[in-house]
Amino acid sequence: MIETTKQKLKDYYGISDKVIKLYEQTINDIKDEFSKYDEIREYNQLKVLNALQQERISDSHFTNSSGYGYGDIGRDSLDKVYARIFNCESALVRPHFVNGTHALGAALFGNLRPNDTMMCICGTPYDTLHNIIGINEKENMGSLKDFGVNYKQVDLTCDGKFNYDKIKNELENDASIRLIHIQRSTGYGWRKALLVSEIKEIIDFVKSIKPEVICFVDNCYGEFIDIQEPTDVGADLIAGSLIKNIGGGIAPTGGYIAGKEEYVTQASYRLTIPGIGGECGSTFGVMRLLYQGLFLAPHVAIEALKGALFCARIMELSGFEVLPSYKDKRSDIIQAIKFNDKENLINFCKGIQQGSPIDSFVQCEPWDMPGYEDQVIMAAGAFVQGSSIELSADAPIREPYIAYLQGGLTFDHAKIGILIALSKII
Ligand SMILES: *Cc1c(COP(=O)(O)O)cnc(C)c1O
Repeated sequence: MIETTKQKLKDYYGISDKVIKLYEQTINDIKDEFSKYDEIREYNQLKVLNALQQERISDSHFTNSSGYGYGDIGRDSLDKVYARIFNCESALVRPHFVNGTHALGAALFGNLRPNDTMMCICGTPYDTLHNIIGINEKENMGSLKDFGVNYKQVDLTCDGKFNYDKIKNELENDASIRLIHIQRSTGYGWRKALLVSEIKEIIDFVKSIKPEVICFVDNCYGEFIDIQEPTDVGADLIAGSLIKNIGGGIAPTGGYIAGKEEYVTQASYRLTIPGIGGECGSTFGVMRLLYQGLFLAPHVAIEALKGALFCARIMELSGFEVLPSYKDKRSDIIQAIKFNDKENLINFCKGIQQGSPIDSFVQCEPWDMPGYEDQVIMAAGAFVQGSSIELSADAPIREPYIAYLQGGLTFDHAKIGILIALSKII
């Protein structure tokens, strides 16, 4: 870091020499980790570029359809581009998905029927899925449970691996299991993200016992962190958000579903309605942003990942427990930091907010966010509201007070934001 930058960090944000020292050691420690992610980024850029070329994308795809949106070639071709990237039969990429949860919900409601069982094999799924599934008794209305879909859960073992014996036992003894749910990313858990290789192993195992089971992967935060995606290794259906990795920070909203054609079609009937599926839906002129965001996504996802790695090391050097460590192989862009202290957690998040390009003057506070059971604090001073491919930190307010940091459209911004946040607590 040049002296001018150090001086300005001190002048603008009161960053101490101690924090600058930590910064310098961190950069030194992590730089060797970067080269493998640079290679992944390079490959994924090639993959995206080639998919756009194969579908012969041109200016005319950036249409501005209205009404029914029949024959919106921008929309229809983007589905094909995604299907190529995910190496699968079909995809449904829509600004009409209000978020990732909506896309996940459409995939589940579309493919489960009364008396079927959905089985989560990574323990408790991400908080916003609880209301979809009907996990908590009180919030059951309109859930899968309300529609007669059963739920089962197999927890990961204490070292964060799949419980193969238990999964086998369930698959052999419960004929109603129609879909298994795998969550690639950490969510609000204290575990590492599942590597695509681990996802492959478990899908092969499940299919060897019961080939007809739908292997569904929540791919949120995982896109472009590896050269393969879950659909490359046997996942039947995946879903995610466009305001995370794959929107490249440019997509203004939306979600996607990808996988086997039959399952994607079933999901499309829940986004719209049977008989219409993905063939309607005007796109209000946002298609260019979805394409451009996709094009930038391999780069942006790795910028964010570098921010997470930086965070892991500097927080570890500052005496906090982190997961994953800076040396662990990653499969998502999330960095979990355990504070064991409510004040530190909140102040760290406030620091991230203060370091944001937008709403930097706002004090974020814990609140009762729709879809979450505990109060949640979310620091997100983002160009796109709530976008978590932009530098952000969030945390459910519960012990042991873990913050989840993610995003950063540029690694430089992520570093600065993290330095400001760290300065708030040491
Ligand atoms: C972000 C996320 C979701 C969906 O969240 P939205 O805020 O609705 O986009 C679902 N699952 C996981 C693991 C996530 O990280």
